[in-house]
Amino acid sequence: MLTNIPGYPRIGSQRELKKACENYWAGKISLERLELTSRQLRKENWTGLQTAGIDLIPSNDFSWYDQVLDMCITLGVIPSRFKALQQTFANPSCPELYFAMARGYQKNNFDITALEMTKWFDTNYHYLVPEFDATQEYSLHQPKCVAEFKEALSEGIHTKPVLIGPLSFLLSGKIKGDDLSMSQLLEKLLPVYIQLLASLQQAGATWIQLDEPFLVTDLTSEVKELYHHAYTTIAQALPSLKILLTTYFGGLEDNTTLALELPAQALHIDLVRAPEQLDTLLAALPEDKLLSLGVVDGRNIWKNDYAASLQLIRKAIAKIGEDRLLLGTSCSLLHVPYNLEDETALDPEIRQWMAFAKQKVAEVTALKRILSGDDTLLIDNEAAMSARKTSIRIHRPDVKKRLKGITTADTQRHSIFPHRQKLQHSILQLPLFPTTTIGSFPQTTEIRQLRADLKKGTITEETYQADIRHAITETIYRQENLGLDVLVHGEFERNDMVEYFGEQLDGFTFTQNGWVQSYGTRCVKPPVIFGDVQRPKPMTVGWSSFAQSLTSKPVKGMLTGPVTILQWSFVRNDQPRMQTAMQLALAIRDEVKDLEDAGITVIQVDEPALREGLPLRKAQRSAYLEQAVKAFRLAVSTVDDATQIHTHMCYAEFNDIIEHIAAMDADVITIETSRSQMELLEAFANFRYPNETGPGVYDIHSPRVPGVAEMEALLHKAATLLPLRNIWVNPDCGLKTRKWPETELALRNMVTAAKNVRLAV
Ligand code: GLN
Ligand code: ZN
Repeated sequence: MLTNIPGYPRIGSQRELKKACENYWAGKISLERLELTSRQLRKENWTGLQTAGIDLIPSNDFSWYDQVLDMCITLGVIPSRFKALQQTFANPSCPELYFAMARGYQKNNFDITALEMTKWFDTNYHYLVPEFDATQEYSLHQPKCVAEFKEALSEGIHTKPVLIGPLSFLLSGKIKGDDLSMSQLLEKLLPVYIQLLASLQQAGATWIQLDEPFLVTDLTSEVKELYHHAYTTIAQALPSLKILLTTYFGGLEDNTTLALELPAQALHIDLVRAPEQLDTLLAALPEDKLLSLGVVDGRNIWKNDYAASLQLIRKAIAKIGEDRLLLGTSCSLLHVPYNLEDETALDPEIRQWMAFAKQKVAEVTALKRILSGDDTLLIDNEAAMSARKTSIRIHRPDVKKRLKGITTADTQRHSIFPHRQKLQHSILQLPLFPTTTIGSFPQTTEIRQLRADLKKGTITEETYQADIRHAITETIYRQENLGLDVLVHGEFERNDMVEYFGEQLDGFTFTQNGWVQSYGTRCVKPPVIFGDVQRPKPMTVGWSSFAQSLTSKPVKGMLTGPVTILQWSFVRNDQPRMQTAMQLALAIRDEVKDLEDAGITVIQVDEPALREGLPLRKAQRSAYLEQAVKAFRLAVSTVDDATQIHTHMCYAEFNDIIEHIAAMDADVITIETSRSQMELLEAFANFRYPNETGPGVYDIHSPRVPGVAEMEALLHKAATLLPLRNIWVNPDCGLKTRKWPETELALRNMVTAAKNVRLAV
């Protein structure tokens, strides 16, 4: 039984690659230095995996920015707007074009926008979206996968090159224009793919991993046909190639037959997300095919439950024998941090339940050793598992009991929306087209310094509190001067909208170095939810009531919703995710109640990540949405009819989820719409969305100050789509990444636009 790792983190255990790339961009280090660091990181990974005893060691899982972008460069999938730049930098090993496609290029008289970025399936990793068009001619460009294979070989390590498979590459991109069909595109790409695979083979590669995660999604019959065509063509051209067709993030389900029919020597399946698929696959596996069992979770930071994994592996052995099996992690380890050994500050009890990339590799080889009779490893693991099952750190009977006692009434506002709306209007006395912002105001260097100083202990809690109060006071006055109707306190006390709450809730812990690549050189350090969640004491009430005490205008209480907290954390795997979401909802509910009791009349519960939690398979989406909506409603439905509940969402399309958005029954929802020129609002109009809506009137991602007229035009457009009394006026999202001068100018224009529209309608 060979051991197989589909991919390893690449940013560096101390984020060395992040630093090297950023220094290179800043002109502080040479290309040689960047390459040297890269080579060192690759070598560390390869030797680490070799020492651990892994048979199929990945190469080409390394990337300066993104593996999908690497593939674009290798095959020559370059959008035409980069052509002139490409000619300027004729030297193909020059990374200027590569980084320009990743980050855009505004130098030397060029102004070229980057490739679009989007989430890689349901992960928090963002890839660069390939742009295909009919004019492109594809050919091989210094394939990095070949170079890296050879580089490893020169270190004495025979690796398994990892490539995105042709269909997943094609499906991850966008075809521009109507004059290129999917099958025409594939026809153009295939010969280059074959050439690439041939050069890998020539370089001495035996196993080649082709990632086809799209096989766990709903596929049209056209795409299924293309899969057949692509893989048959490859097999005919290169009959001796050993392809390890790799799937992850879900089960093959209705694509099982397809996946098995594709001519590949081995198939990798994700048995963490979809253990139930093992039986079907074992029964249907053709005799000449190998099966790679992904039993160690590549998406989470928990220790593997050996007993459970062994059950799956033994079942497979009994059916097809050890020789036809490979054993590995469910997917690339890109999505977990490097090394638990670096976490010296974690509570030892919690730490013993965890495993990062290095530990997960050891788990794969440990499972193999146990199968050949090494029982001590199993005994240790069972001890950790049972300690976790019964730990009082995790299990809080009062939380479980409270959750069991939830009734439908707890998830329902007292009255229906029209009644609440009337009441709220008479109390809040807001004008038509009321103006507000989404919550955060500029996080200046001084504000960041304050939080850092408090953490380091160089300022006292009192100084910190006084300085934050000062920032809030100033912000309230600025908003009053601007003439905004519903104010916010500015979120200066928050480093991050999830971490801030996690730090104050029981059941959460934080790592020191648990970085995971989010995109390019950007890494995130997700909080860890290890146990039952409970709120020991109010989290935001002090700041919100202070802000409210400064003004007669309403100040919005500002909270992060349960689904977003869930989505942006590493979540415990010993209970269904949605159960954890419901516990989070109860904690937020307590905060909502306390805010209301403190006299806060408008409370916003942000759910920007609600949409990204959507399951990959359409059939599972409504169940998810129903539960997500229920969690939101549980969090907010404790308030009186007169208290106005807001929610906020960005990065979302609404067409396919609008009925669920409506079911959230927030009194007001603010959404990102300006970049689509209110197009996203059409879903609300078509659905006749009954509650109030604040379609963002300006993009907050750039320092550009929007003019009055353009925002006015957007509001007029909104007025054709929604009932007038339902429309709010606000930016697309929070303003924390902006600077004060542009923020004040933009908001002043926004308020003027709202005033003009009030007069015009
Ligand atoms: N209230 C948050 C802010 O303004 C919302 C952030 C978000 O939507 N991602 O920063
Ligand atoms: Zn937002």
